[in-house]
Amino acid sequence: MPEAEGDGLAELYQELILDHYRRPRNQGSLEAHTSRVALANPTCGDELELDLLLEGGTIRDVRFSGHGCSISQASASMMTQLIKGKTLDEARRLAARFSEMMRGSADAAHDRALGEARALAGVARFPVRVKCALLGWSALEESTRDHP
Ligand code: ZN
Repeated sequence: MPEAEGDGLAELYQELILDHYRRPRNQGSLEAHTSRVALANPTCGDELELDLLLEGGTIRDVRFSGHGCSISQASASMMTQLIKGKTLDEARRLAARFSEMMRGSADAAHDRALGEARALAGVARFPVRVKCALLGWSALEESTRDHP
């Protein structure tokens, strides 16, 4: 995180991550889904299953379930919040932006389009945890790979 942002924001971000971890948004599964992808991050023990309902290139609904560290579960929760109702193109742009943030891009870390997911910007400094943060987004990528 840039120095100018200080400890107050870091604390706020930490709280936001824990809040998503304790009360995951869009948790569960979708009976009517167009894709279901399960991914794991063995180095940390994170597991994730992502259900998507795609309709005409738009993500109509999304749910996830899983367990693992707070970074992996909070990141997936934040991702579902961001992509719900978005077109595939928009969701892919967000995924690319999030990846940039995980590679340390300050520009991406300040992109309002990433919403609460910006709270994870600090993870970029911990390469081992980047995989945790990317797990949900990787599941999204795999879910949408066969769609134009
Ligand atoms: Zn993890």
